[in-house]
Amino acid sequence: MKSEELFNEAKNYLPGGVDSPVRAYKPYPFFAKHAKGSKLFDIDGNVYIDYCLAYGPLVLGHANYRIMKDVKKQLELGSAYGVPTEKEVELAKTVIKKVPCAEMVRFVNSGTEATMSAIRLARAATGKKKIIKFEGSYHGAHDYVLVKSGSGAVGLPDSPGVPEETTQNTILTPFNDEESLNALIKKEGNEIAAIIVEPIMGNIGCIPPKEGYLKFLRQITEENNIILIFDEVITGFRIAEGGAQEYFGVTPDLVTLGKILGGGFPMGALAGKKELMEMIAPSGSVYQAGTFNGNPISVTAGLSMLKQLDHRFYAEMDKKGNVLRKGIQDILDDADLNFNLAGLSSMFQIYFTKEEVYDYSSAKSADTEKFDQYFHYLLKNGLFLPPSQFECCFLSLAHDESDTQKTLEVINSALSSIR
Ligand code: PLP
Repeated sequence: MKSEELFNEAKNYLPGGVDSPVRAYKPYPFFAKHAKGSKLFDIDGNVYIDYCLAYGPLVLGHANYRIMKDVKKQLELGSAYGVPTEKEVELAKTVIKKVPCAEMVRFVNSGTEATMSAIRLARAATGKKKIIKFEGSYHGAHDYVLVKSGSGAVGLPDSPGVPEETTQNTILTPFNDEESLNALIKKEGNEIAAIIVEPIMGNIGCIPPKEGYLKFLRQITEENNIILIFDEVITGFRIAEGGAQEYFGVTPDLVTLGKILGGGFPMGALAGKKELMEMIAPSGSVYQAGTFNGNPISVTAGLSMLKQLDHRFYAEMDKKGNVLRKGIQDILDDADLNFNLAGLSSMFQIYFTKEEVYDYSSAKSADTEKFDQYFHYLLKNGLFLPPSQFECCFLSLAHDESDTQKTLEVINSALSSIR
């Protein structure tokens, strides 16, 4: 197996053989050769229907024709200028048109940079230090938020190297639990600069908010001079044109974006109310900068992506998601398996637990060994999912009926061997 050999070699040069921890799974990950549409091809000649889709950005599938065409054209014109471009303004206008809370945008290079900068801005705006995040939410790999943070870091509550002083300012609370948050705000509300939340938790599987929960967050933050940050790095442009804030009808003060925004190229953004965004340098004094911020390749890809995401796209994605989830639910019901199927729109995950899953603790009741068996069975039979129970699976527009049919057949036989 070439992938096995390459992984053994890679371990000498890349920590753990990979460039991001969740990519390493036992016994070895397959190495990609190329990809097109819903399919990922490895260096050993295997083909997989891809439900990982690079952890979310590829809503139109791999190597989308229009994005590739536009990017190729831009490549001929240069890949980085260090001066502003017309396309950045066009992309900012597109984001502002689509996303309800966005009145101004700063483009950065990743979701991690976006959340780091949004938190800094919230602290500057409120003159307060502490932030609240939810157990199991992931907002990137920087120090402010690396506490009980989702799939990659589950089991490593804090990373060595993160100073205690930093995480002391990051307070954890369970998602979907109004009582706990009320008590927390009562005690420490005066010191809280921001609440940062994934409106649908996508880094501990897939956990939607309970009815009214996001409205509750909006209200309690408004009442206590706390900035509400929706981290829509996953949900932005995925579940509706305006993301989760449009879908659930709740407008935060700031939003962080990434993944889909870059059309398959590295990109992130923070956006929000003008009075806040104007505090960012150079119009204000909150420092944020980046050599590749708003680079023409990512901006071109992002524009090309967003132009293709209209209301028909969202209707189609909902339909595809519903068909697949119904198929999986029927399999679970027919086999009398009470495992929990979670998801909405183009997001889904099976939790190998019979408990209702609504937060980090209930998600952790899932049997990860069973998930592992399921993952490997699917992999062997040509389906690739993120290799963790605590990640979310994604669909793209390129996934067609034959993909769904094969997927359901394989899941059916996988689940009949896992009880
Ligand atoms: N926020 C959320 C909700 C994410 O899912 C991720 C990455 O998966 C990030 C932030 C960090 O984004 P990036 O990996 O682009 O730094």
